[in-house]
Amino acid sequence: MTTAPDGPAPGPTLGEVVDLLHGWFPPDTADEWDAVGLVLGVPDRPVRRILFAVDPVLPVAEEAAAWGADLLVVHHPLFLRAVHGVPATTPKGRTLHRLSEVGCGLLTAHTNADRAADGVSTALAAALGLTDDEPLVAEDDGRGIGRVGSVPETTLGAFADAVAAALPETAQGVRVAGDASRPVRRVAVAGGAGDFLLDLVAAADVDVYVTSDLRHHPALEFLEKDGPALVDVSHWAAEWTWLPAVRAAVDAALGDTVETRVSTLVTDPWSFRR
Ligand SMILES: [Zn+2]
Repeated sequence: MTTAPDGPAPGPTLGEVVDLLHGWFPPDTADEWDAVGLVLGVPDRPVRRILFAVDPVLPVAEEAAAWGADLLVVHHPLFLRAVHGVPATTPKGRTLHRLSEVGCGLLTAHTNADRAADGVSTALAAALGLTDDEPLVAEDDGRGIGRVGSVPETTLGAFADAVAAALPETAQGVRVAGDASRPVRRVAVAGGAGDFLLDLVAAADVDVYVTSDLRHHPALEFLEKDGPALVDVSHWAAEWTWLPAVRAAVDAALGDTVETRVSTLVTDPWSFRR
């Protein structure tokens, strides 16, 4: 058997792309409650187009279908609890059916991507210009929870401006708790909802903590300790920073055997503010 010399290079199978991503983000490193890995797809089918997105929602599935994607890689799980059927009478069922209709697989890398050495918090730290960053809570093999690193000394106000400029724009914007003139040099970050790290951050040698979904009471109690300032950013925007990073890693690994694209849809739930 020979292949045409000027034909396209043979692309990987879905199974090979899944193995590649699972090598970087092993499913067994996900939290016990999490649901990661291949949600939909036939492993021996060829993959030529891969779309990356934060949320597996219907508009993203439509985007994948319109582009002709063979695989949609997302951060958040479509299903987190047991399901006993996937009729297209629910939003999640419709999303799954749309992907299935066009032969597009679905892969989730969630907490296994959060704690990877080159994972979500690392991508957020890089986007915010942190240097010499390391895990906030170190685990095995360079993995960990959150990141802590340094920025050239600035003020909290200027740092918040830099955060706003570094992240994709959302209606939420960037909320700050602290004195705008306060010096900032050491920065902790955690992609996603990071209030479970507040006690740890309060005791850490950092000037500011950047995370998402902070609530009134935990934030107020944290500030009463006169510790670091808080910067609350859109959950979607923070985790979006991982998409160009994982896309670049896939491009480097698979070259031009695949086309890759980061979703342009803003799936942050908030539409506007008054
Ligand atoms: Zn998240």
